Amino acid sequence: MPHHTPLIETIVAGIGLAFVLGAVANRLRLSPLVGYLVAGVLVGPHTPGFVADQTLAPELAEIGVILLMFGVGLHFSLKDLMSVKAIAIPGALVQIGFATLLGMALSWAMGWGLGAGIVFGLALSVASTVVLLRALEERRILETDRGRIAVGWLIVEDLAMVLALVLLPAVSGLLGGKGADGTTAQGAPAILEALGITLAKVAGFVALMLVVGRRLVPWILHHIAHTGSRELFRLSVLAIALGVAYGASTLFGVSFALGAFFAGMVMSESDLSHQAAAEAMPLRDAFAVLFFVSVGMLFDPMIVIHDPLPMLAVLLIILVGKSIAALLIVRAFRHPMSTALTIAASLAQIGEFSFILASLGLSLGLLPKEGQDLILAGAILSILANPLIFVAVDRLGPRLERRPATVPIEAPAPPVLEDDLPMTTLTGHAVIVGHGRVGSVISEALREDGWPVLIIEERRDVVEALRERGIAVIRGNAAAPPVLAAANIGAARCLFVAIPGAFEAGQIVQQARAQRADLDILARAHSDAEVEHLHACGATATVMGEREIGLGMVARAKEAAAPEPAARAPTPAAPTSPPADDATAA
Ligand code: AMP
Repeated sequence: MPHHTPLIETIVAGIGLAFVLGAVANRLRLSPLVGYLVAGVLVGPHTPGFVADQTLAPELAEIGVILLMFGVGLHFSLKDLMSVKAIAIPGALVQIGFATLLGMALSWAMGWGLGAGIVFGLALSVASTVVLLRALEERRILETDRGRIAVGWLIVEDLAMVLALVLLPAVSGLLGGKGADGTTAQGAPAILEALGITLAKVAGFVALMLVVGRRLVPWILHHIAHTGSRELFRLSVLAIALGVAYGASTLFGVSFALGAFFAGMVMSESDLSHQAAAEAMPLRDAFAVLFFVSVGMLFDPMIVIHDPLPMLAVLLIILVGKSIAALLIVRAFRHPMSTALTIAASLAQIGEFSFILASLGLSLGLLPKEGQDLILAGAILSILANPLIFVAVDRLGPRLERRPATVPIEAPAPPVLEDDLPMTTLTGHAVIVGHGRVGSVISEALREDGWPVLIIEERRDVVEALRERGIAVIRGNAAAPPVLAAANIGAARCLFVAIPGAFEAGQIVQQARAQRADLDILARAHSDAEVEHLHACGATATVMGEREIGLGMVARAKEAAAPEPAARAPTPAAPTSPPADDATAA
């Protein structure tokens, strides 16, 4: 090659190999994450052959973290955040404290000093944003109660780590390491000063976002949308997400992840937030993959042979110690077992913050190199184990949940499903998934004819508007089994799947069909391939939007061209009511 192109090489090797190994993992019925991590190990410095750039890969991964947290912020309102603070704040703090103590005990057993123990313990206590969000998204529980608690917990952990990263250099002298300036020990005033400045900066950033950002960002989006340029709109979304995250970190000392979360949260105030989320999605997924590749690159497989016992102890702390602490805390707040298990499983791993803490600890002379190696190995092994833990939780959950009923039989309460989603009391009703351009038309028409109707919709604003009008609605993603179960599909008259994405629609159809073989399922499609897919998933009938538009236009044109009203041939189809042969029967 004529010139040196490390960035291109890293992206090509990372994405290319992750794709191949992700596909292999998928074929072996493993999570694709396993493939991405192994791809990272292969392009890392500890295995022979090509070695990707070790400074560029983590930076690319950081973009993945930014875009992921931005996406979470987009689906999160301030109200959501406040609604979980009662459990997220004490939960995260107690768990960090407990895991740090376990880490310190292990460090003491290995003969390291107090400073090493604190850094090591903190690094083992904090979960990876990317891994947690991926796990919740894969299971479609990000927007459930469990998901909101987990995200709130994550935000508190992030904030605690921002403080830890700032405070460590200030206290390092006291703990036997080098001071912030490399040599001198520092005292209490320096610690208080560092703490005060950090808290003021975080508060300044949050205030700026809530006061100025909340108005400015929706305003910018609105104006850009009016230019009619999709490209400019996409750019504006990315510029805001990346710009705010970078600005938050350089100007306010807040982590990239936290900055991006707030950028998303203020953008969610705009009606265009859903379009914004769709724009950032493809890029986000690509960079999230690079995150896992970059974690894999750090792994030195030899540690498992050299340090088997400490390695095992580290894994026990991450997988068992942290999980049990989280489980007990969530249960203590009287949340259902399913919620406690999900939170525990989501937190049973460590990731990016742990790496940052470890390298800071090393540079301050607090943590020995062996500590950093153990943290890196603990991260990769716990991330590898995470999908398995979720499988175990899925198996274990229902058994633990099966408890004798405490409610007397004479007082029948609606059965409560996961996430306190009460099952609807409606029967003989029509379930409509999605209340957008298509679902709203269906719902109006059916209600005019006096049908009982239940809507499933994931957009908060739409759900609130429907509730105000007294229309039965469940908020959530219909592809999540508990959401569909809450709609009482078993007693429904029919199901309309009126969402545009055929992939997700197919999953919904499949699940509904599995619950009821005789249910009338009508699905919306946009191409022949989608029609075929939806039928294969079990739809009774599909209506292809574009075909109906074409037929409607022709019908209108023929009507206009007809010379005399009396001589007009009967209209083949009213634009809004599709002819029977267009609803392809299965
Ligand atoms: P439209 O394309 O205008 O008919 O809008 C589709 C509507 O369906 C939007 O309001 C989306 O929020 C909603 N929607 C899309 N996917 C899902 C899903 N999986 N579960 C629930 N609602 C959805």
